[in-house]
Amino acid sequence: MSETKNIANREIMEELRGADVRPSTTRVHVLKYLREHRNHPTVDRIYQNLIETLPGLSRTSVYNTIGVLERAGLVRPLSMEGGEMRYDAFTEDHAHFQCERCGAIFDVPLNASGIAGDALREFRVKRLDVLFWGLCPLCAKEHRES
Ligand SMILES: [Zn+2]
Ligand SMILES: [Zn+2]
Repeated sequence: MSETKNIANREIMEELRGADVRPSTTRVHVLKYLREHRNHPTVDRIYQNLIETLPGLSRTSVYNTIGVLERAGLVRPLSMEGGEMRYDAFTEDHAHFQCERCGAIFDVPLNASGIAGDALREFRVKRLDVLFWGLCPLCAKEHRES
């Protein structure tokens, strides 16, 4: 499905320390999962994927950990249609495309300079959210064939 790469725990621990976050086991695993999977998971999906490795884990602790990582600027929240929250550990500006059929969320490279011109001069922009909505290539293909 989505691309997976393996990152050493040590690397993740260094990143947490660099952001002044104590690298507890849960924090290391949650950030590692988000770094290794660019699938913009929900808290529940993170929980389902980590429960085997961390048997004492609860949804609440995943939720709280996400909160800590978010405040440290390591994770960015995405609020999707219907109020569903997804999380992204890639905090550089990029847009998203959500497929209305399969629900998958894709990263889209974005160059925001030049979009606003002067329009935002007096605003303090804290975050950029650009969401495209429609059919992913796979679903578009199936749609044509059915
Ligand atoms: Zn799709
Ligand atoms: Zn993303």
